[in-house]
Amino acid sequence: MVSIEGLNKHFGSLHVLKDIDLQVAPGEVVVIIGASGSGKSTLIRCVNGLEQFQKGQIEVDGNLLKPDGKAGGALQKIRTEVGMVFQQFNLFPHLSVLDNVTLAPMRVRNASRAEAERTAERLLERVGIADQARKHPAQLSGGQQQRVALARALAMEPRLMLFDEPTSALDPEMIGEVLDAMRELARDGMTMMIVTHEMTFAREVADRVIYIHKGEITEQGTPEQVFDNPRNERTQSFLARVL
Ligand code: ADP
Ligand code: MG
Repeated sequence: MVSIEGLNKHFGSLHVLKDIDLQVAPGEVVVIIGASGSGKSTLIRCVNGLEQFQKGQIEVDGNLLKPDGKAGGALQKIRTEVGMVFQQFNLFPHLSVLDNVTLAPMRVRNASRAEAERTAERLLERVGIADQARKHPAQLSGGQQQRVALARALAMEPRLMLFDEPTSALDPEMIGEVLDAMRELARDGMTMMIVTHEMTFAREVADRVIYIHKGEITEQGTPEQVFDNPRNERTQSFLARVL
């Protein structure tokens, strides 16, 4: 589903991603961990073309991204095929929950309102907030808003879902409900790349855990390998700090 080869990314003189090679299989759940500033968000953002890069290539479901934003029509396709959920929910504040979820399918996929609303209602039900459809985002808790953001992303029927610290802005009591919705999505076979600091969750859902240190993948393996028997000293000290 995703093939990253020789990816290098600079912000000016800062070399943020260094020779990243990473393949993600259909249905695979890859969790990316690492210290703040190690390049996790930048990596995720490169995958759906939110950031350009200088060297290497990224292929997402057959759509090729090349250095310096050269992608032709691929960028457009990737944007519609890849869903993303951020730390900040980024909902449209002036729209109802239902309209937040139906907007993109109607605008981008030319879905009829009736069809988009049927899908939205099903997805809101799936993330457990069907009863909130007529409210506006400000009337919902953070956990509910993030589940709307998830439903909104799923409404585009993505082939791949990217998550960048989706629970980091939530009060502790709301983290579980968002992780539950993500767990269910993983169980249903969605291909997912997830940046998170929720290590218990990572251990449970990840097929593979990737550890990034200063822009390099320095360790990867199954959750058992990475969490229980980290080989790299830096992974060991990172885990000692966060576990
Ligand atoms: P992480 O998500 O692992 O905390 P980031 O990918 O956000 O790390 O950032 C990696 C590095 O790139 C950091 O040193 C950060 O300061 C830098 N960086 C991120 N975004 C930008 C930007 N838009 N311009 C300049 N530097 C950036
Ligand atoms: Mg980040």
